[in-house]
Amino acid sequence: MDSLIRVENLIQEFPVKQGILDSYKIKGNKLVREKKAVHAVNGVTFEVYPGEAFSLVGESGCGKSTTAKTIIRLLNPVSGHIYYRDQDISQLKAGQMLPYRKKMQMIFQDPYASLDPQKTIKNIIMEPMLFHKTAKTKEEAEEKCMELLQKVGLRPEQASRYPHQFSGGQRQRIGIARALAVEPEFIIADEPVSALDVSIQAQILNLMMDLKDEYGFSYLFIAHDLSVVRHISDRLGVMYLGCIVELGSKKDVFENVAHPYTKLLFSAVPTVGEEPIVPPVKLEGEIPNPINLPSGCVFHDRCPDCREICKTIRPQLKEIAPGHKVACHLFE
Ligand code: SF4
Repeated sequence: MDSLIRVENLIQEFPVKQGILDSYKIKGNKLVREKKAVHAVNGVTFEVYPGEAFSLVGESGCGKSTTAKTIIRLLNPVSGHIYYRDQDISQLKAGQMLPYRKKMQMIFQDPYASLDPQKTIKNIIMEPMLFHKTAKTKEEAEEKCMELLQKVGLRPEQASRYPHQFSGGQRQRIGIARALAVEPEFIIADEPVSALDVSIQAQILNLMMDLKDEYGFSYLFIAHDLSVVRHISDRLGVMYLGCIVELGSKKDVFENVAHPYTKLLFSAVPTVGEEPIVPPVKLEGEIPNPINLPSGCVFHDRCPDCREICKTIRPQLKEIAPGHKVACHLFE
């Protein structure tokens, strides 16, 4: 099947502000200027297929949200390619991106901050419809807005209220309705339930999955909660220090965990009355500073299986079973 989104060797960095004295180093007998950067995304490659839910997982700071923001072009990539179907959108200018802005929408983590407090719910949902012309008239936009509110579990008579008059879960429902207003094909959901009360997380996730089945769009979920990832994903990629270290279907990754870091991540998942996904793994050291990435495998400083080759040569993602890829020298 052809992919909807294809990301190839994506790199994202943020320059670090340095004093003039810090930025010069003596190399050999020369004074050279060194620019430092936070290496947030380091050569990420993956695809999202039509109608699927793909998740990026990893600890905070692993680069998953930055990857998502770069794909949707809230950030410009330093290098690499982002394909929407066959069109490379990685270097498109703002005007050229407009048709893709309509096809790609984002649901944000914080439903409190992502809705304009000055606008009624009706205006929040109708505005993108009129801007992107998914409704030709105000009347049509209003009619669609009322339908959408019902789809996400709200009542049409709530349309004239303001965001502060809703609970957290209701605001996330409004955020979902706003994303759907332009009939997108691809939705990035950045930790969409992590700011919500545990008791309503499942309701919102179930709503999101029902809407995907009804409308047929694809999700890129950004998540650190593995129970959420297991519930919603068709496929997933595990990230560490801006790199994808394991990629595969939910079954591949959860039932045949391969990469030492994925084992570590899964071993930290608390289980009540069930066998753990993998036995506990002892982890040494701390996550390295993304300004000074380790040579070779980015996980080598902490990996219990580290070999000599791991310290100098970065492993590439390789298929170990159909569709299941791992970046680790143990599998070469
Ligand atoms: Fe560990 Fe080496 Fe595999 Fe990296 S490449 S995860 S250091 S065994």
